[in-house]
Amino acid sequence: MLVGRQNTKAMHSRPMRVRGAADAARRQHGSHFALGQPGGHHPLTYSEENARLYQYESRSKGGFDKIEQVLRQIAQHQHQVDFINQAQQIAKQELGFALPEIMLENTWISPLDVRALYAWCVFETYSRYANEFYNDSPLARQDDAGFQGFIESCGFHTLDFSPCADGRLAHIIRYVLRLPYKGVRRKSYAGAMFDVEDSLHKWIKTEFTRLREGMPNSVDQNTRYLKAAVYHYSTSQPDSEGCAAHGSDAVAAAEGALSRLLAFRQGVENSFCCGASIDLLLIGIDTDNDSIRIHLPNANGDIDSDCYVDAKEVYSQTFNVSKGNGKAAISELVERLAVTKGVQPSSGMIKLITRLLLNNISQIDYVRTYYNGCYSDIGHQERFIGMGVGFEEVQLRNLTYFAYLRTVEQGAKDLDVGIKIFTGLNIGRGLPAPVVIRYDYHGKVPGARERAIARCKCLEGALKNRFSDLSAQGMLHTLLVVRDCQVESKGIEVVGSSIQTTAAQGGH
Ligand SMILES: [Zn+2]
Repeated sequence: MLVGRQNTKAMHSRPMRVRGAADAARRQHGSHFALGQPGGHHPLTYSEENARLYQYESRSKGGFDKIEQVLRQIAQHQHQVDFINQAQQIAKQELGFALPEIMLENTWISPLDVRALYAWCVFETYSRYANEFYNDSPLARQDDAGFQGFIESCGFHTLDFSPCADGRLAHIIRYVLRLPYKGVRRKSYAGAMFDVEDSLHKWIKTEFTRLREGMPNSVDQNTRYLKAAVYHYSTSQPDSEGCAAHGSDAVAAAEGALSRLLAFRQGVENSFCCGASIDLLLIGIDTDNDSIRIHLPNANGDIDSDCYVDAKEVYSQTFNVSKGNGKAAISELVERLAVTKGVQPSSGMIKLITRLLLNNISQIDYVRTYYNGCYSDIGHQERFIGMGVGFEEVQLRNLTYFAYLRTVEQGAKDLDVGIKIFTGLNIGRGLPAPVVIRYDYHGKVPGARERAIARCKCLEGALKNRFSDLSAQGMLHTLLVVRDCQVESKGIEVVGSSIQTTAAQGGH
């Protein structure tokens, strides 16, 4: 069955897993990906790109994952006479950077502040990771430039995605759907319950730019704005590893996301006359193995949360097709299903869905090849919380828990979920929750940078206020970062930190 019905799952909180225990769990776990296929890749998989993406993922995450082990090693030497030299030597060799000297001093009389050092190392690793992303474009692809032409050929001028803020969906654009991150707007919210007003604002801005500048295409082109919401579930542990914001209930997650999509469309239609409307797409992702399900909209754009195409089934049914016939075979499957289900998506929508399913086949094989068909970290393993506005550089799974917000009050729910997750991951083990507070700004607007810095400081104050106990205990550390998003190759600018070092004034 390509089109399925979802299982309702009971509500449970998600158990947390100690970092590092994941690999052992995976070995016991084995592969959950029972596609009934022999080994080898699907003929439509881009194996070379998979290898490139894996190299980037493992190297980037590896930088964060070394920190704890290296600090354990360094801490053992803290009472020795030559401690500072020894510590710096280990840090440079293992982490690739030196530690702030002031944090290593006086350890004969007061113990090394490993918590602060841990947070500092996470922030330094993050800064290097982010700057590499903007300076070297490790995830760019040569054919990215043609993407806008492709979506316009499907009848759309803008793709606007709102996945759940869960870190296990952070790689949705570049990995799971294999889309260029610059060609798609991404804004995450807990439970994919996106801010309708924010999307409305973005729609107005997009249509106005088309009118004034003809970008990304002119208003006389008959194309529409496409809003997609992405919810998630776990097939291996549906009761505990689904979406925390929806009590691990896949049906509630899909219906919640769908309700926001419908509210957004109605908002556009009610606010603007002349037949103004948008197109909608609802996508689900199995966070065990990154396979997607795409809900088929009918010609009016209406979506049934129960009617979807499952990429795992598409994978199986096209496993023996030749490379040249792959796209046509997938398209045919989608069309046939649409007929069976009595829905009639537009031909452009079918073209886009076909592309997404085709792309997802590579990601299914990515997880099969490098993770034995099921991630070892099927639960949370985020390395830090990202709070504020920005974070385009985070395109990796389980690296960051996002809390997109302009004020702490506005995003309190997302933030509370983030701190809860890090209570399991870090705080429960005596390590602080590292929070990167970020605000991107438009450098062409006078005073924008200063306002961005002021907003970061305001968010930091409100965060510390909300979690004052954790903050007082040194269990919550912050890094303040801004970035001019109008300069593509420009990296981040660190403008403050909760960790006082000599470098904190200029760097952190
Ligand atoms: Zn979620």
